[in-house]
Amino acid sequence: NDKTVSVVGLGDMGTALADALLAAGHRVTVWNRTAARAEPLVARGASRAETAADAIVASQLVVICLLDYDSVSQVLVPHTDVLAGRTLVNLTNGTPGQAREMAAWAADHGADYLDGGIMAVPPMIATPEAFVLYSGPSGTFETWQPVLDAFGESRYLGDDAGAAALQDLALLAGMYGVIAGSLHALALVRSTGGSTREFAPLLSKWLQGVVTWPLAAAEQIDAGDYGEDVVSNLGMQTAGFANHFIAAEEQGISAELLLPVYQLMQRRVADGRGHEDIVGVIELLKR
Ligand code: NDP
Repeated sequence: NDKTVSVVGLGDMGTALADALLAAGHRVTVWNRTAARAEPLVARGASRAETAADAIVASQLVVICLLDYDSVSQVLVPHTDVLAGRTLVNLTNGTPGQAREMAAWAADHGADYLDGGIMAVPPMIATPEAFVLYSGPSGTFETWQPVLDAFGESRYLGDDAGAAALQDLALLAGMYGVIAGSLHALALVRSTGGSTREFAPLLSKWLQGVVTWPLAAAEQIDAGDYGEDVVSNLGMQTAGFANHFIAAEEQGISAELLLPVYQLMQRRVADGRGHEDIVGVIELLKR
């Protein structure tokens, strides 16, 4: 029975996870609230559990991938009596606090718990591009890593159950920053009435030079020093940044995506840090 794995939640992602487990040669039991979504997987060799409790009972390893933590609670809470001795691997997107709370709740019911963050879209699952962050007890991770590796590269972040959710959100924050800046860039180009398609390769090439930015920034942050070897000081950057708002006005677009970072840059300059690097803005994000 050790090769049986259950997957609870068969949305786009849960389905991709179940398929990856089937492809890796595991026997897979699946459950989804809307039962019809299990049918394609059953046709590919999975077993359908009638209830979530049946899916939990069927395997020692239960992979959960639902919309959010509320749905995970709605599915699991009625079945606390069958959790003892199981390992729950919750790959639902959530917060560090939600993950820690669920880890404590699982422990109260005798279940081992790993939290995870999937850094891939469903078509990337089981390809070399996919990686999944995990946190929770190291022994639990080591026991199940050979199975979890079916989803992509498994990256273990330590025994704080909240660590995977934290780094997942951190990576997404970086991604959304790039998306926000790119949306403004494309809106600006579109405002001329021209094609964004011709401009996009240049933007993409430009961003490739930006992707290593966090490496140098992290050195300064860890040193707590933003004043060494500054080549593009914050005062200069803030003066130039004003042009984004003037140009947006001229071109008839909104610059609201850029406003929050500009306000922080201005505050940092007002604090007398204009000679330093823009990285020092991070000090204003402390609460
Ligand atoms: P979908 O919207 O495709 O699927 C959502 C799933 O959650 C369905 O199985 C749905 O069941 C179930 N669900 C929602 N509410 C409840 C509830 N109250 N009770 C029981 N089941 C419920 O989402 P995905 O599969 O794409 O995403 C799942 C998780 O994976 C999310 O946390 C997401 O953030 C994460 N993720 C997704 C990525 C993606 O690109 N798709 C990338 C990385 C992470 P039903 O079919 O009955 O509605």
